[in-house]
Amino acid sequence: MGQDSPSKRRYSLIPTSHPRAISLLIREKLVHGFDDGLVAKEGLIAHGRGETFDYLLGEKTTKNAKKAIKAAALALILAKSPVISVNGNIAALCAKEIVLLARIVDAKIEVNLFYSDKKRKQYIARLLKKNGVKEILGLDPRPSRRIAGLDSPRRVVDKDGIYAADVVLVPLEDGDRTLALKKAGKKVITFDLNPLSRTAQTADITIVDNVVRGLHSLIKECKNSKNQKIQFDNKKNLSEAINEIKKNLARRARHA
Ligand code: ATP
Ligand code: MG
Repeated sequence: MGQDSPSKRRYSLIPTSHPRAISLLIREKLVHGFDDGLVAKEGLIAHGRGETFDYLLGEKTTKNAKKAIKAAALALILAKSPVISVNGNIAALCAKEIVLLARIVDAKIEVNLFYSDKKRKQYIARLLKKNGVKEILGLDPRPSRRIAGLDSPRRVVDKDGIYAADVVLVPLEDGDRTLALKKAGKKVITFDLNPLSRTAQTADITIVDNVVRGLHSLIKECKNSKNQKIQFDNKKNLSEAINEIKKNLARRARHA
């Protein structure tokens, strides 16, 4: 892992005419991320869980995801110290978009891994830098702090990053960490294709969408947002996401 140069040119073996080309291309990106030392083995499995829910949701940005994206854009724009937490999957899938979003909403970027690994952090930081980030938090030897209620080393966060943040975007997060961030008083925004996950249920704003699709919409929304107050109820929105799956399944069952 990590021996191959991340800049090595690769050619996709997936024909664009394949009916599941987009999904397969995203999967391929993640596999390349693994080969480049960015993604943990467990990250590949987590992606598989996401793919399942994407399938059930119809692989589209739903109406309720759009609603959550609007709420997330507003929260990020109004935040005093927003931070975007980046893990291996996010770096492999959307490094460029993360950097662009951070620039638009003036957010800091912190590398924070569930399976902490110094080398992997360095590979992720290198990729983010290649995409134009100057300051990356969460790396040694930056000052760190601990968030309560979690086992080490997952509880270690950057003193000037997540620790000091009022709003944290944690795409593809684990439930325990989401809960700990909530308990630490943060407003938590997440992308999670599984509306039933603990992360989805615990966050303040859950965008039930593939982060690869949803991040583009979030960037657009942040650029265009007119700071209009909107009514947003995460629980209600999650139940709409669950109903979307139910509706899709009922339709498929009728035509099976
Ligand atoms: P939780 O810990 O929140 O209960 P979990 O243990 O089921 O969730 P994790 O492995 O901790 O799952 O987190 C990964 C989450 O990210 C999963 O819910 C998965 O559906 C979601 N996911 C994976 N890939 C994507 C993606 N590309 N876009 C959005 N969500 C994704
Ligand atoms: Mg989990």
